[in-house]
Amino acid sequence: MSYGRPREMHDAICAECKQKCQVPFKPDGSRPVYCQECYAKRRPPRRDRY
Ligand SMILES: [Zn+2]
Repeated sequence: MSYGRPREMHDAICAECKQKCQVPFKPDGSRPVYCQECYAKRRPPRRDRY
């Protein structure tokens, strides 16, 4: 998929490291927002679960 405009980013505070970050969706407050690093840490691409 390719769009002619850049992806819209929204300011947010990471629920993990509490740092300011930007996410490609609008935080609605009902679910935690994570920065790219924490998001990647929470969802490793390929790894066994415990
Ligand atoms: Zn974070």
